[in-house]
Amino acid sequence: MGKRLVQLIKLCFEGFSDIVFPFCGRCLCCESISINYLCSKCSSKISYVKTPYYINLCESSIKIKCYSVAYYSHSFKKLLLKFKYKGNFNCSDYFVSQMKECIERNNIQFDIISYVPSTKKIVRKRGFNQSEVLALKLAEALNKKCCSLLMRKEGAMEQKKLSREDRLNNLKGIFSVKDAFNIKNKKILLIDDVFTTGATVYHCSEQLLSKDVFEVIILTLAKSNV
Ligand SMILES: [Zn+2]
Repeated sequence: MGKRLVQLIKLCFEGFSDIVFPFCGRCLCCESISINYLCSKCSSKISYVKTPYYINLCESSIKIKCYSVAYYSHSFKKLLLKFKYKGNFNCSDYFVSQMKECIERNNIQFDIISYVPSTKKIVRKRGFNQSEVLALKLAEALNKKCCSLLMRKEGAMEQKKLSREDRLNNLKGIFSVKDAFNIKNKKILLIDDVFTTGATVYHCSEQLLSKDVFEVIILTLAKSNV
């Protein structure tokens, strides 16, 4: 997608969200009066993920380092659902501030930000890909480049309904890397909304590494305990 088109879509989103969901000094979660995105009661219910964790790529010794902001529960889950299914973009501003803080606290170094693509069907239904919105806003906040590096085929079953093992097989061959960018020897920060079994980021990382990138680092907003 052209840079201008991406920016145009972004501006439309921001304009729309300002009209529909003005941030007017209320907690995004419970709507009580608050000078911050979340009131103290709602923010105290967030359980942060304090240390990085790893996924192993099969048939190789490569470990992929993963970071998440918080566990997928309480206020954090409620906000993510508001953002994802109700299009509340004020929540995305809060999430981006949290992701930025996580990057700075852990001193995560990278060259390019990218994101896990959604299927066209989901984007048509929902109107946007939440991971793309987060990646674009995060890149803007950090003054970094955000590139759409991956493509996703239709055809996989919905991951939610599958077991841990089936999730990994279900996504085999679904992701591929676009040829539009030179990513050789680059460090890629890959954004997704929720880390569940890691099957999605596993397949995306495998594809990126096959194109000789130097490293893939995963940053998800939430980590599920599933
Ligand atoms: Zn609250």
